[in-house]
This record gives sequence, structure tokens and C-alpha cells, in this order.
Amino acid sequence: MQQQQKSKQAAPGGEDSLRRDAISSPDPIAVQELFKSHDYEAEWEYLVIEDPDEAAIKIANDVKTEILPELRMRFGIADFTVTFVEDLGSGCLGKYIDGTYTQPVMVLDFAAIKAICEVDDVDIEVGIETTITHELAHAIHELLGLTARSEIQAEEFAREWWKNRRFAKWTHRKPTVFRS
Ligand SMILES: [Zn+2]
Repeated sequence: MQQQQKSKQAAPGGEDSLRRDAISSPDPIAVQELFKSHDYEAEWEYLVIEDPDEAAIKIANDVKTEILPELRMRFGIADFTVTFVEDLGSGCLGKYIDGTYTQPVMVLDFAAIKAICEVDDVDIEVGIETTITHELAHAIHELLGLTARSEIQAEEFAREWWKNRRFAKWTHRKPTVFRS
């Protein structure tokens, strides 16, 4: 998740995504659990914080506990990993690791999230939750085979979960990449 200004930019493929919103929600019963198809570890590429903020971990775990049942039912995602890392740079709050959608891996820059929460006068709980859900949206993009990874959709996904505990409409599309 980038800083706020970024989400106001027009995203490529926006119109296409709108058309997809018209497709109705998939039948949850048809969704089978995804087979974890990667062994990615954030340590490979990022400086993992060895002693992360305990409150931040608790918030991340609470977000996971709450959203995982819905992710599992809708997309077969049984788990995801949140790792707090050092400085992602250039205002970046979090990053979804491409290719990990079967069990999404994301890295979060807690210091950057904390800083922007202070500037925007937002609770850290909200900052962490919306960063996680924003990055999950990118995993869903990949899972749904959406090549245009819209930042607008990711922000919409984060906002819709935060406000209404619902998945944004653009996710109402049948996953195409389940294990055969
Ligand atoms: Zn993003």
C-alpha cells in the first residue's frame, strides 16, 4: 500500500474491472481449499524485524482471525503470512509477494505505517488492518487472474472490509486458478 495520493491515480484496466463487478458472487460451496504451491520466506528478500512490536503482531493476528474464514470460503485461501520488515522505502507501507496467492505472503513496514497513521491521525489498528487487507486484495487480483493490479480496487477492498466487513464487489468473480 502506497501513501494516499497514489490511490487517486487512474488505474489501467479500471473499466474492465467495472464490467466484472456485474458478475454475481461465486457459489462458496464450489470453492475448494487451495494447495500451498510455494515455499517463499520473506527473509530471502527482506530484512525481517527480529523483535517486532508486540501490539502490532496482535493487531495483525486479530485481522487474520477475522478475515480468514471469509477468505477461505470465497477463495479457498487457508492461511496467509504477515511479516514485519525494515524500511520498504519510498512511502511503501506493505507489499504482497507476487506468486504466493495460494497462501499469500506479505511484508509490512510498521514504522512507515505508524508514521502515516500519526500524520493522518488514524489509529494504528486501522493502519495495520487496511495495509493487510490492501495487500490481500493484490493476492486476490492474482488469484482471479486479473492482470491489471488496480490500486483503486485494493483501496476499495480495504475500505469495504474496514467499514462493512464485506468483500468489495470486484472480487465477486469466479476464481480461475484452483488446483485441478
Ligand atoms: Zn497496492
